[in-house]
Amino acid sequence: MGAAVTRRRPTVVVAGLGDTGVLVATRLARSCHVVGISTRPALVSGQELGTRLTDLPRWRRTYLVPFGRFRRLDDIDLVHGRIVEADLASATITVEPATGPARQIHYDAFVIATGVSNGFWRHDRLEDLHSIDISLTAVNQQLAAASTIAVVGGGATGVSVADNLARRGGAQVHLFHSGDEPLPGFHPDVRRWIVRRLASDGVVVHPQHRAELPAGFTGDALTTDPIGWSSGQEPFTADAVVWAVGLTRPHTSFLPAEVLDAEGFVLVDAHLRVPGRRNVFALGDVAASDPLRSSARNWGYRVVVANVRAVLRGRETGLRRFRPAPYRWGSLLGLQSDGLTVVQPNGRRVRIPRPIAERLLLGTFVQRVLYGGLRRTDR
Ligand SMILES: Cc1cc2nc3c(=O)[nH]c(=O)nc-3n(C[C@H](O)[C@H](O)[C@H](O)COP(=O)(O)OP(=O)(O)OC[C@H]3O[C@@H](n4cnc5c(N)ncnc54)[C@H](O)[C@@H]3O)c2cc1C
Repeated sequence: MGAAVTRRRPTVVVAGLGDTGVLVATRLARSCHVVGISTRPALVSGQELGTRLTDLPRWRRTYLVPFGRFRRLDDIDLVHGRIVEADLASATITVEPATGPARQIHYDAFVIATGVSNGFWRHDRLEDLHSIDISLTAVNQQLAAASTIAVVGGGATGVSVADNLARRGGAQVHLFHSGDEPLPGFHPDVRRWIVRRLASDGVVVHPQHRAELPAGFTGDALTTDPIGWSSGQEPFTADAVVWAVGLTRPHTSFLPAEVLDAEGFVLVDAHLRVPGRRNVFALGDVAASDPLRSSARNWGYRVVVANVRAVLRGRETGLRRFRPAPYRWGSLLGLQSDGLTVVQPNGRRVRIPRPIAERLLLGTFVQRVLYGGLRRTDR
């Protein structure tokens, strides 16, 4: 009898296991040898900061998931560490693990999903579960003790934080933003709606305020000093200041400059592939896919998964294309007592009643369909 021929499964390195890296890794795990590299031992989503700050136990159920709970990650090689170099010519990356010496890993395909630093809630520091818990709790305690809170920044995060804190009560919440209406990049109807909504939820909104950031400060911590305004108003003092000013910094220092745009985001073509590199893809907040860098929420992971599979089979034509939406969309305020409101790219709003949102969307859809099944506890 002839010996069975075993075909080597191609190795796909997924850099960063956040919202998008996890989706790619869970999809490719069956057909490929996936090596997932993550600075944390858990998915710590950057989504829904507002509910994280006001209802941490509820937020954790959906947005903080130790990797051991993902059934579909059972077969991947998880490396808790940070990629420090990617040599795209030799298809090799170098990782510094949380413990032990640096390792080099060769890949057949490379997916970059390392995200961005933004405020205090998104970063690329190495963390374990204990330090994640400590920092989540410390921020929430500081905000719970404040009687005046200033939120600086009128994007989706600032709006979500201000509205959730105001609804919780216990503090007067001020939202400062530099334009006429919050939510630049959203449909005009959504922008008008949010002004009404913030007012009715008790947020004091201050348009036309452009804050001066202290020298060298990127907004990555709560502060207590008075806020100065380059737009000319008197300084404002609050017990806690949340900075949500969108000073994003892409996590790409391990990549050669020729694959980055002027701001350091990863260049990609319509297939979310790095130009000139047939087996390197990027998605999520780190990828310069469209002006809004929206491939995380516009199903970019499906494009990357299909195209990685195609390229590994040797196909070069008919790759799937990424289709960005013209306006930002998504859930702005998170799950509330009256349900979950999702704003659409066309400006419409869909409100999903709370029991359905909890059971069908955050339960069945996210946990079963999106993540492919979660265990109740960590392994
Ligand atoms: C299905 C879906 C729905 C969404 N819906 C909404 C919505 O309704 N509202 C909304 O506001 N947003 C929504 N988002 C988008 C979300 O706000 C962000 O765009 C998303 O969190 C970005 O994901 P990411 O994977 O790019 O980055 P992250 O989730 O930040 O993951 C990056 C990870 O890479 C790690 N990392 C960084 N550098 C390295 C390194 N050198 N080596 C190893 N690891 C590294 C980081 O520490 C981090 O863990 C949605 C996203 C998805 C996927």
